[in-house]
Amino acid sequence: MTKTALYPGSFDPITNGHVDIIKRSSNLFDRLIIGIFKNSSKTKAWFSDDEKVEMIKEVLKKEKIDAEIKIFNGLLVDFIYEEKVNILVRGLRALSDYEYELQFTLTNKTLAKSEFETIFLSAPRRYLYLSSSLVKEIAQNHGDLKTFVPENVEKKLIEKVKQMELQVLSNENLKDYKI
Ligand code: ADP
Repeated sequence: MTKTALYPGSFDPITNGHVDIIKRSSNLFDRLIIGIFKNSSKTKAWFSDDEKVEMIKEVLKKEKIDAEIKIFNGLLVDFIYEEKVNILVRGLRALSDYEYELQFTLTNKTLAKSEFETIFLSAPRRYLYLSSSLVKEIAQNHGDLKTFVPENVEKKLIEKVKQMELQVLSNENLKDYKI
């Protein structure tokens, strides 16, 4: 039987912590799907779904990782059912992830429409405290991103911060002209 694994997340943006989990799980299973939770109007994502796909695609190509990328909407268990997923992969960082991840797993088990197992891969020491939010904060403060994200993601983050700064400037200029 083909073992299909799903690694779901927001990936806003993909970090080296995510890449580590993706690499390791692509070696463990026959088929790996990277599932991007579709941005909703409520989520304040920096990157659009298409930008996320593009960034992940480039990383997979560079790292020679064989995985599929899919955007999904709605309940995770529906996606698991539709894609015939056998294994749900989650990454565990510090202890603070544990409670959320357990809640996430138990809820999905309760809602499950098909049989699947959840496995947790622990983050390597160097990425234990790495998150997409932290990376965005570093980018906003013009910090060095090299150890945290792949090169193409670093470029996109720098571009995004520039765009946001220009936006703030033009809003401030508009204010000056108001009477
Ligand atoms: P984040 O929590 O950074 O916004 P996601 O929602 O995209 O990231 O997370 C998807 C999965 O990846 C979750 O299981 C999360 O615990 C895991 N993950 C995120 N960052 C890391 C990391 N640095 N090391 C290992 N796993 C991680």
